[in-house]
Amino acid sequence: MTITGDCFCGAVTYKIEGRLFDARSCHCSRCRKAFGSQASAYARVNASQFSWLTGEDLLTSYIGTSGAGKQFCSVCGSTLCGLYDGSVHGVTLGCVNGEPDIMLEMHIFTGSKASWETIAEGIPQYEEWPPKNRLE
Ligand SMILES: [Zn+2]
Ligand SMILES: [Zn+2]
Repeated sequence: MTITGDCFCGAVTYKIEGRLFDARSCHCSRCRKAFGSQASAYARVNASQFSWLTGEDLLTSYIGTSGAGKQFCSVCGSTLCGLYDGSVHGVTLGCVNGEPDIMLEMHIFTGSKASWETIAEGIPQYEEWPPKNRLE
């Protein structure tokens, strides 16, 4: 299957020739800042299946001290993907188009969620990392 995504202004577009996996929402304070939201909504991709279609020259990267980072559109500010060791690690679910055949599997770092958020029930919630962390 082919999944596509784009940013708010539409200048940056990508495709994934494969499936998303490990979809999760992280409620920690760092993800709140990175996503400008109550939590992240993020899924892993196989880097070899990911490619930019348009606007790659408009991307700006932010790499944190851990080596993990993100790439966002320099025109509209949408965060499109997460980076790890210089390659695409996953995508922000908010920028994925259509119905990508994946559901959030867990909420993590609920112990540090914002005071103003009520987390939707129905999937596992973990105070911090899940018992078996599969981030990397
Ligand atoms: Zn944009
Ligand atoms: Zn987080």
